[in-house]
Amino acid sequence: MKEYKYEELLDRALKRLPGTKTSESRFIIPDERVFIEGKTTIFDNFDVICNYINRETEHVMKFLLNELGTAGKIERNRAIFQGRFPKEEVERQIQKYVDEYVLCMECKKPDTHIMKMDRVWVLKCDACGAIRPIMKRKG
Ligand SMILES: [Zn+2]
Repeated sequence: MKEYKYEELLDRALKRLPGTKTSESRFIIPDERVFIEGKTTIFDNFDVICNYINRETEHVMKFLLNELGTAGKIERNRAIFQGRFPKEEVERQIQKYVDEYVLCMECKKPDTHIMKMDRVWVLKCDACGAIRPIMKRKG
């Protein structure tokens, strides 16, 4: 029979504890890669972020253009905005989008989807079943 050192036992005990580090923290969005090129702002990993938050690129793009008050386009996996916007500004808008269209107000989980109920767009949580109305922006 193998003998364990105290550190090893401690290590094993800690590993068995459920989610000691991250489970309680809020939904973490991957780091946005944003840079300025001439007079435009490139959101380089736009598709990665949309995939991660499980929303259509078109919907996220419309939100960003509206909030940033500019024009832009989706090109392959990137979003390109007219004008120069610092990374922090884009991050702030993505966070706003997530708060409004992704996170459940009740349990704070991102396991939600947008659906229509009696002519009203709602955000339904797949984790706890909570429903809240949202503003579905039109193009
Ligand atoms: Zn919920």
